[in-house]
Amino acid sequence: MISAALSIDLESYWHAELLRNRIDRKTVDDRVEAATRPLLALLSRRGVRATFFTVGEVIAAHPDLIREIVAAGHELGCHTYTHRPLWELDEAAFEEEISRFEAVTAAVVPGVSVRGFRAPTFSLTPDTAWALDVLARHGYAYDSSVFPLKTPLYGAPGAPAVPYRPGPDLITPDADAPLLEWPMTAWRIGPAVIPVCGGFYLRVLPMPVILHGLKMAARKGPIVIYLHPWELDPGTPRIAMSAQNRFITYHNTGRAMQKRLKSLLDAFDFQPMGQALQAFQQN
Ligand SMILES: [Zn+2]
Repeated sequence: MISAALSIDLESYWHAELLRNRIDRKTVDDRVEAATRPLLALLSRRGVRATFFTVGEVIAAHPDLIREIVAAGHELGCHTYTHRPLWELDEAAFEEEISRFEAVTAAVVPGVSVRGFRAPTFSLTPDTAWALDVLARHGYAYDSSVFPLKTPLYGAPGAPAVPYRPGPDLITPDADAPLLEWPMTAWRIGPAVIPVCGGFYLRVLPMPVILHGLKMAARKGPIVIYLHPWELDPGTPRIAMSAQNRFITYHNTGRAMQKRLKSLLDAFDFQPMGQALQAFQQN
């Protein structure tokens, strides 16, 4: 079986970009436990360990869940403290996000070292590449936030397809750079770049396209999948929004997404990102 890395962006549905700031957080449940526990049970039944890029607010609100995740052998990664995208922050504000994440992690799971980072909404682009310096200063070994094509919200077109050390412009590799970047997996076919890496694309593209694209991408280098527990949760609240935003946020969430995750678990041999990167660097 082809090996792949599995990454879970552990956040509440209300952290999602199109729902952010639209929910009165004091009056409703964040559904983190309801959405994440069935996923943990599924991964345990399948003997699969993953990387959980977790929002610091979720660690503070659900310390027991985080301890269970770590005890089950999953890797804990950083997804900032509040899930604000990097383009809303400057270097000092980002540094504060990272420091708050470190503090809550040290309090809830002391001794666990966090080595990997994922930016909210793939907001690491050439304009926000200053974030890499902050991560290096805080001892991170790798980042997985580069989305290698332009979308309406985000993207860093022209970035390499396989793990590389990004220079100051994020796109050009620099062998001396301190951090390793693992970009989101895309299937390159001629001039087309098809994101087959998870999330919205995993919900919207036909499953045979996803499976074939991942297999083709795996010939060039290690592949990584991402998804959110709220995408698997049939109980994720439906918030009124435009038809287009509703499609992006809700299409094929719940049972349809559970089915797609199971197809991936059948097709690939998954491991946490840190472990997969170690194997990649030894080759
Ligand atoms: Zn996120």
